Amino acid sequence: MSLISSFWNRFIEKLEKNKENNPVMYPLLKYAKPIKLTEDKIIISVDSPGAQEFLEKRSKEIDAALFDHSQKRIEVEFIIRIPSKKSITPPLLSFEPSIEDVFVKSGLNKKYNFDNFAVSTSNQVAYAASQAVVKNLGSAYNPLFLYGGVGVGKTHIAQSIAKKILEADKNKRVYFCPGDNFTNELIESIREKATSRFRKKYRYLNLLIIDDIQFIAGKNAVQEEFFHTFNAIASSGGQIILTSDRPPSAIKNLEDRLHSRFLGGLTVDIQPPDFELRSAILLIKAKEKGIDIDIEAVKVIAERITDCRGLEGTLLSVYAKILGTKEKIDLEAVELFFSQNNGEKKKRINPSEVIKTVCSFYNIKQSHLKSPSRVASIAFYRQIAMYLLEKELGLTLIEVAEMLNRKDHTTALHAKQKIGNLILRDPNLKKEIDIITQSLFQST
Ligand code: ADP
Ligand code: MG
Repeated sequence: MSLISSFWNRFIEKLEKNKENNPVMYPLLKYAKPIKLTEDKIIISVDSPGAQEFLEKRSKEIDAALFDHSQKRIEVEFIIRIPSKKSITPPLLSFEPSIEDVFVKSGLNKKYNFDNFAVSTSNQVAYAASQAVVKNLGSAYNPLFLYGGVGVGKTHIAQSIAKKILEADKNKRVYFCPGDNFTNELIESIREKATSRFRKKYRYLNLLIIDDIQFIAGKNAVQEEFFHTFNAIASSGGQIILTSDRPPSAIKNLEDRLHSRFLGGLTVDIQPPDFELRSAILLIKAKEKGIDIDIEAVKVIAERITDCRGLEGTLLSVYAKILGTKEKIDLEAVELFFSQNNGEKKKRINPSEVIKTVCSFYNIKQSHLKSPSRVASIAFYRQIAMYLLEKELGLTLIEVAEMLNRKDHTTALHAKQKIGNLILRDPNLKKEIDIITQSLFQST
């Protein structure tokens, strides 16, 4: 520390002891800056003319304090700090957000980008469409509607598009929003009477992604707001990307005008990954996590685990098993893992997860499912939950009835038979139940 700063700092420390007596002067001096110290003079810079004037009026007092401090007569002079160009530039530069900050602000997760996205037959159309959207934001396909079952990579692709756009120009206004967040945020803003803030946030975007758009169905105020958000963005040249676990036509309680908007761009489905793609994804995930794995071991996992989320989960579980004993995952480790874990899958899921998953799929409240309500739609979803509890978890009919607050187990028996029969006749229902089951067993 320079002589002048140490002199000044010690002086300030001394004043601090007495600061109650100088409630204005002390803080002004504390934030002032010593510029020059000679035998008999000290020049101090302050931020404002007001501070300068205030301190000048008390210069006698300050001179006395300086004498007390140094046993020398030192006269004080105050000048106003003129911010030089140089001193302005660095802070401004450091306020400029980094690309990572921009990603976070845009709702993006650092995990996902196109570099770690594998392309194969099941997702190549979606991949090509996403590249077209990146190249012609707002003009190629609006909206881009991506749908497919759990874990096929919808979120991964959507986030990768957002990153590409920001990497090319980080001033682009991009926002990635999970569907239920959009809903919750809107409801909150209505309650707080802050809808104009909500609109300002959403309507001027260059790119809005709503992930899992099916969550807005059935909620009138939310659909209304989304309709206007959509129009505002699209009409000013912005891009909308939507993802869903089902095609627009299968989203129940979706307003017609939204349905037709959704179909107004490009709708692409992503199929479950084939064996090659699953192997590629495993290799990518292993590399990212620094896990060494034999190709033979990769093949066995990719053969047995058919959903993407399960792949990563299994990779980590096998890795946890070999830690401390082996350097890399080999065929033997994988086979041992599967022989030990066979059949454990169903036991791991608990009944409340089944209820939660059914409710979130059909967008209804758990309390409704468990209530005495006999409204037809609620009763139907309740039967689906009962069917799954019995079939997938092996609960007894009495246990199933109890889980849903039914007094009589014959309700559960009726549900089991009815849904079991319906599935055989109604391929749409079968598909829905498959999606629910798949998301139940995915390991995340
Ligand atoms: P979805 O949103 O369709 O449910 P996600 O995008 O969350 O699926 O993907 C689930 C997991 O699988 C993520 O870890 C994701 O990185 C991975 N994944 C899915 N598809 C691919 C792919 N083609 N290449 C690399 N990773 C993938
Ligand atoms: Mg997703």
